[in-house]
Amino acid sequence: MIRIEIKRRDGLARTGSLLIDDTSLPFPAVIETETVFPSLGARGGSNIPLSAPAGFAATYIKNNGEQPIIIHPSVDNPADSGDCVIVPNWQTALSNPRNYVNWLVTLKEKTPPDTLWYAPGSALPSTVHILCYSGFDLFDFLAVDLKSAQGIFCTPEGDLPADAMNSGICTCAGCQNQDLKSHNRQALLHETALIRRFIEMSKLRELVEARCRMNANHVAILRHLDNQYIFFEPYVPVARSGVMRANSGESMQRVEVRRFAERLLSRYSPPKAGVAVLLPCSARKPYSLSQSHRRFQQAIAGRAHELIVTSPLGLVPRELECCFPAGHYDVPVTGYWDAEERAVISGIMSRYFARHQYNRVIAHLEGGALKVSEQAATECGITLEYSCKERPTSDAALLTLNQALSGERRVKDDRLHGMLSWQFNVDIDTRGITSRGHFPELFFSKGMTQLFSLDTGTGMLRPTFDGWNLIPAGYRVYIDDFIPEGDILAPGVVNADPEIREGDEVLVIGARAMAVGRAAMPAGEMHKSRRGVAVRVRKIKRLNG
Ligand SMILES: [Zn+2]
Repeated sequence: MIRIEIKRRDGLARTGSLLIDDTSLPFPAVIETETVFPSLGARGGSNIPLSAPAGFAATYIKNNGEQPIIIHPSVDNPADSGDCVIVPNWQTALSNPRNYVNWLVTLKEKTPPDTLWYAPGSALPSTVHILCYSGFDLFDFLAVDLKSAQGIFCTPEGDLPADAMNSGICTCAGCQNQDLKSHNRQALLHETALIRRFIEMSKLRELVEARCRMNANHVAILRHLDNQYIFFEPYVPVARSGVMRANSGESMQRVEVRRFAERLLSRYSPPKAGVAVLLPCSARKPYSLSQSHRRFQQAIAGRAHELIVTSPLGLVPRELECCFPAGHYDVPVTGYWDAEERAVISGIMSRYFARHQYNRVIAHLEGGALKVSEQAATECGITLEYSCKERPTSDAALLTLNQALSGERRVKDDRLHGMLSWQFNVDIDTRGITSRGHFPELFFSKGMTQLFSLDTGTGMLRPTFDGWNLIPAGYRVYIDDFIPEGDILAPGVVNADPEIREGDEVLVIGARAMAVGRAAMPAGEMHKSRRGVAVRVRKIKRLNG
């Protein structure tokens, strides 16, 4: 009897427990196949190529209800919630990145999300990172044992000749005993444990961006998967806690980075302002806490809409500086922006200025950020004014900026309005709502009634029941006719608005109770899963009747 419990998600990757009878195994895991699936060796249909056409594959793949259930890109899904599924020959996909991603998308889309994924014969210390990142949870020792038989010493960075065992690279028990097979197995267990840890920290992407450098196919898989934005985006949480490290070229293509820009351009509603000032970013986040931004804000004195030009996000309006990942990213700063960065960011900026018009746009920038703004201005046909020649924080530059704004009217500071538009896709009248607290720990109320608070860990607004009254639609989870005792489990969900992602603030609505809380899985998984927490509930309100 096999049971799975998914605990944490990070994109397609998950951690959790595999319960086999009375024993519990944390996954991603490397298993002894004969112990966990004793009958697998005697079953047919486990050697069908991934490229086999539907007719051929369906003839030979026989599922008799025994675990694991064989799935194949061209065969209808035979698996049910809670099953363990196996994709035979997945190791062959690793050398064909385009097919790898196409097959993966096909398989993931037709298989229930609350299934455990087994890739037999595929995992090496050097491949298990990309396999977990692709949503595989179970592995075996077949591939490393084969390497041992070939006299190859396995490391996360790739294969080395067996004599590497004596070079001090590794000091595991296997190496100490001159036992290559034992070393290779331990190296796989060690790397799998490390990946589990990174998934728990929601930092698998950073590990994969680092690890994939050693193998061109792994880089290509990462890039092809990023290109599948429509498929991949729902799996990625809207916010994470901690810093998002954007240290590689691929960071530009991360779902979080692209989603920020998409929402900026499709949802965000700026305040009424005649003048925009383009500012450089700061290492400190949110920017307002930095020395340089305090000085910019003094010079501007509320007479312009402040827009921060930054890589990799593009453009961050002042009101969105706390939203994930604007308040949470770290990038290597050299002052040089490469051609791809410039193209992506000027594209975002020119689309923004085509959508939102200002009478004047003042560039208070230098270096790469200035170049990219000039490129954007040319693309969208606006004329920039300049308030500094170099060093935007210099006294002379700040004085010029101040003078450039003389006579301009104050722009209404409405952080709440901007954040609500970005997070909930709403345009809300915030008149009469006041904020208090010490930035960024802000609370928003009307009279004595608290409406929203800002979660500084994630940059998300948390509505109270009264706050939800202002949000007319969206981000609702509908439950059956019961009063929740605590968290809402997936089987209790009747419907969920499709835009909901893990980490989103949601309003739970049922016939007998309402609740506020945070989504623990995307809407699609709430519909398709039969296990797991769907919403972490903060507060429950019983309804009369
Ligand atoms: Zn070793």
